[in-house]
Amino acid sequence: MGLLSLGTPLPWSEVRKHTDHVREHGIQQFLHIWRNHKDRCGDALLWGDEVEYMVVSYDDQGKRALLSLRQAEILKALEEHETAQRAVEDAQKVKPCQRMPTFHPEYGRYMLEATPGVPYTGALEDLLYVESNMRRRRAIAKEHMAPSEYPVTLASYPVLGVPGQFTEPFYPPTGAASRSLFLPDELINPHARFPTLTGNIRSRRQSKVAINVPIFVDERTPRPFHDPTIPRDRALYPEDANARDGAALDDHIYMDSMGFGMGCCCLQITFQAAGIDEARRLYDQLTPLSPIFLALTAASPAFRGYLADVDCRWDVIAGSVDDRTAEERGLKPLEHDRFVIRKSRYDSTDLYLSQAPEMRDEYNDTEVVKDPAIRQTLVDAGVDGRLADHYAHLFIRDPIVVFSELIDQDDATSSDHFENIQSTNWQTMRFKPPPPGTDIGWRVEFRPMEIQMTDFENAAFAVFIVLLTRAIVSFGLNFYIPISRVEANMAAAQRRDAVGTQQFYFRKDVFSHAAWAAAAPPPAAAAPSPDAASSAPSTPRSASSVASDESLSSLEPAVEDEYALFSIGELINGKHDAGIDFPGLAGLVEAYLDRMNVDIATRCQLGKYIQLIRRRASGELDTAAAWIRKFVRAHPAYKFDSVVSNEINYDLVKMVENITEDREWDGAAASMLGGVKDL
Ligand code: GLU
Ligand code: MG
Repeated sequence: MGLLSLGTPLPWSEVRKHTDHVREHGIQQFLHIWRNHKDRCGDALLWGDEVEYMVVSYDDQGKRALLSLRQAEILKALEEHETAQRAVEDAQKVKPCQRMPTFHPEYGRYMLEATPGVPYTGALEDLLYVESNMRRRRAIAKEHMAPSEYPVTLASYPVLGVPGQFTEPFYPPTGAASRSLFLPDELINPHARFPTLTGNIRSRRQSKVAINVPIFVDERTPRPFHDPTIPRDRALYPEDANARDGAALDDHIYMDSMGFGMGCCCLQITFQAAGIDEARRLYDQLTPLSPIFLALTAASPAFRGYLADVDCRWDVIAGSVDDRTAEERGLKPLEHDRFVIRKSRYDSTDLYLSQAPEMRDEYNDTEVVKDPAIRQTLVDAGVDGRLADHYAHLFIRDPIVVFSELIDQDDATSSDHFENIQSTNWQTMRFKPPPPGTDIGWRVEFRPMEIQMTDFENAAFAVFIVLLTRAIVSFGLNFYIPISRVEANMAAAQRRDAVGTQQFYFRKDVFSHAAWAAAAPPPAAAAPSPDAASSAPSTPRSASSVASDESLSSLEPAVEDEYALFSIGELINGKHDAGIDFPGLAGLVEAYLDRMNVDIATRCQLGKYIQLIRRRASGELDTAAAWIRKFVRAHPAYKFDSVVSNEINYDLVKMVENITEDREWDGAAASMLGGVKDL
């Protein structure tokens, strides 16, 4: 999760003296990048996925699945293996898509992250390597672990923070960085960045983070639910009073530390676009898709030993890094702080970015605070209003971690200060300028999805998103709806069983006003070769197209008439009634594949991925969250009191391992995976 600079991290009392410096130089660094790269175009489609894992350590006798804190040893062993493997690959000239994956640290000291060793290209053939690459990553990771350890891909760990032992080795739940009542600081990656982030978020906020997730009320859950596991009489740190003084709400699962959020796992996809305009379009078009894929990948139904009444990690992470002061949260009049800020640093995208003609100003319809001086600097340098707004908004945040050795930098060559703010704005999408000193172009990152238990599912979602981006570019799709509606969808997406129960705002006509696609060759003229997938309409708009946009805009319907409510099933599988003729996102992906003349074998493999997503959306197959909830409720030791005990967790994790290793597709996992694989 972001930049791992080395040096001496400053405490918050010192960081606050440098916040303007970091912001000002961060913006200068961005301007250097922007000037150097704003006109570049024709970059190839390259993309990659990131998979996050939790390493569990089984205590078979005690029937416990503990979180192993051996991240450093495991990563060291993996690094040595990678170095040796790279030499062999170079000698044998191994194809890029078959190169050894790369492993990275993550926030939790029980976590790993893995990416393909080399980015995938736009060739459809590469899509067929994704699943085997993910399987290989897990196998390699496992080979470098102890026999009692296994890398699971669970989005939230059900017993993280329960009383007693949940890590291996055991540490008592306390520590100067988080001051948590439930999590030891030893659970945090010891690289200076992570404990400092944790401590400085708490210091900046002037209280511990307070996350309250509604508890899932089962047949025997006491009402009101007054959590007996909160140590209300402990007084080790001043903040311990928080839990007594109202931070912990009845009928909720209370969590008080960054680890509860950033200790969750996700699946992220990053794409390189042809140029800045295409990156901005993709950023915008993927934004309304974020809640839909959050709902479809929902995999977090349990926190701190309880079943929750939500299915997703999203708001837990948002709360876990919410460094806003009481003034910034609007709880006190502004006296010391500059702005009232509506959302945490981790939350959904606030502003659309593109200048494409179909982007109407009305879509950016929420109140978004911007730093006026930063906006002015950007506009004076020639940056257009929408991009200036984007950064003037991200840069209302303070840097949280500053290393004393890195305060003075050469803005022409460094992007450290820029990245400091940019990469601690954790939104559903991230717009990524080219890093200086590399040949990487403009990129966008799709960040909402929860990690799935199997590599088949993770590959399915990764591949589906890649194909959707190709369909967006190729057909000039228009998914714009007001950003306030996307926010409403984010809330709906996290509700329990959202796929079956919630309705989502979505654009009725996704082909409307697709003027930017008109700049691309017409569909019939586009060569059906894999390379066509990456050819983007980066042609600048001509005077005549501007004129026609203006005449078109007079015909534009009211924004409220452009969208309607859909179920997830309709959004993926299509809706053809009430004046709506929507082929569904799966239909769009299939239409794109039809256009590409894909060979039968490839189509068959991709078809399985599409089927998984179609059946999840229709409710025929369970989400991981629904499956986990059912597993817990069907466990003989479950007392219908919302409690996920260590014993239940042990059996759950063992079963998850069996599912991941393909041993339960037709057995216990049938309701989640069904017969999709044998299609
Ligand atoms: N683990 C975080 C999540 O689940 C993301 C951290 C990162 O940006 O890599 O969203
Ligand atoms: Mg990560």
